[in-house]
Amino acid sequence: MTAEMRADLDAAPPPQPKSVNGRLAAPPARPVDQARIRAAVREILSAVGENPDRDGLLETPARVARMYAEVFDGLGADPRIHLQKTFEVGHEDMVLQKDIEFSSFCEHHLLPFTGRAHIAYIPTGRVVGLSKLARVVEGVARKPQVQERMTQEIADLMQDELTPRGVLVLVEASHSCMTIRGVRKPGTVCVTSAARGIYQTNSASRQEVLSLINHYRPGG
Ligand code: ZN
Repeated sequence: MTAEMRADLDAAPPPQPKSVNGRLAAPPARPVDQARIRAAVREILSAVGENPDRDGLLETPARVARMYAEVFDGLGADPRIHLQKTFEVGHEDMVLQKDIEFSSFCEHHLLPFTGRAHIAYIPTGRVVGLSKLARVVEGVARKPQVQERMTQEIADLMQDELTPRGVLVLVEASHSCMTIRGVRKPGTVCVTSAARGIYQTNSASRQEVLSLINHYRPGG
């Protein structure tokens, strides 16, 4: 049995999600175990043939541990909270928040993918603060992710919490697991979308938003 397997067995079972108002809430926050990351990074450095005790690498395990605690802090949080506060403005036409920059980590290689998300929705009178949409994107991005699921998660959060007439989420990103390893194709952009409500059923509405996203570039 390896040390990692023993560590897995010793670890406490993950906290179970609780049901709130019939919905499954996110599991309670569990702090990142930085000591365990430090040990693992040291192990990786040795495994690739490095000397983890040489000067330049001495602080690396601690730095990497702090980095993971930061970039994966979405694991201990529920992005739903950003959509709880809404404003009655009587607005029942489309709201489009474009070019929300994000960075995330692909769960297959633990390499970053970075890009922009665009969120359109048609409120039923109540809207959410624009900065909250960026918070939602950040909340779903800051954990091991795949772009497809991230796109769906944003759409579902918007649909569940705001019950708008429709939601359309478009995400475009460059994956470093495609550009620096494997097929090594720099410049490749992966585009994913998720539509709910009217944007799912009405292709003219969907087309309208997609052309706004593609043509209204800042300064363009
Ligand atoms: Zn990947």
